[in-house]
Amino acid sequence: MSFLELKSLCKNFGGLRAVDDFTLTIEEGSLNALVGPNGCGKSTLFNLITGVLKPDTGHIQFKGQDITGWAPHKIARLGIGRKFQVPAIFEELTIRENLIIAARNNGQRAEIDGILAQINLTEAASILAGELAHGQKQWLEIGLLLAQAPSLILLDEPTAGMTAAETRATAELITRINRERAMTVLVIEHDMGFIEHLACPLHVMSKGQVLKSGNFTEIRNDAEVKALYFGQAAAVANA
Ligand code: ADP
Ligand code: MG
Repeated sequence: MSFLELKSLCKNFGGLRAVDDFTLTIEEGSLNALVGPNGCGKSTLFNLITGVLKPDTGHIQFKGQDITGWAPHKIARLGIGRKFQVPAIFEELTIRENLIIAARNNGQRAEIDGILAQINLTEAASILAGELAHGQKQWLEIGLLLAQAPSLILLDEPTAGMTAAETRATAELITRINRERAMTVLVIEHDMGFIEHLACPLHVMSKGQVLKSGNFTEIRNDAEVKALYFGQAAAVANA
């Protein structure tokens, strides 16, 4: 039995097929990255996994249960946590208070100090969340996820808008969460520098499907992947 199995998922929006016969298996305790050009269906896939959208066809199995079509709160309760592109934090509360609330909402007795240390915010614990820099807000939101103690974490472009240094620190943070907390992580990302730092299996998505899976070097040197990215760059340059 695999931890997460995505089997032949399809999702159409009107005449547009955003996710097209998408199949992927994720093993427990693994760290995987999903990359691909804008609009290839990455966020839609996360919406299918978390129950925000229902697939038109296909199946999703998590921890041996068929969760296809389940309501989002039931899927969250089963242990799938997701970080959105825009942080959802209480700006007028301190960082520690934000974490306490996240843990309490989920009935967890999380070790808040351990989470603070892991997200590099120990010294900022009593600062209002609204005063944090952009990158730190993203880390706080990862901390809020940890406080809810999911077994699978989905991160959608966690380094969007970050500086190079913040991006590197985020790659380290995600690697440590995966190793030290034994949480399974699936991360969507654009930034190839970040992906290289993650040093994990990559799955390249194109037009709603998995085009290629492999490690960073294999993917970087793959002719089809190069064409995909070069094609997009050329399209942007010509726009
Ligand atoms: P990515 O995250 O890879 O950039 P998305 O999954 O957000 O891509 O989008 C895939 C395609 O589906 C895009 O063409 C997008 O415009 C379309 N799409 C996404 N969500 C919706 C929606 N709720 N309604 C209609 N079209 C959508
Ligand atoms: Mg997206």
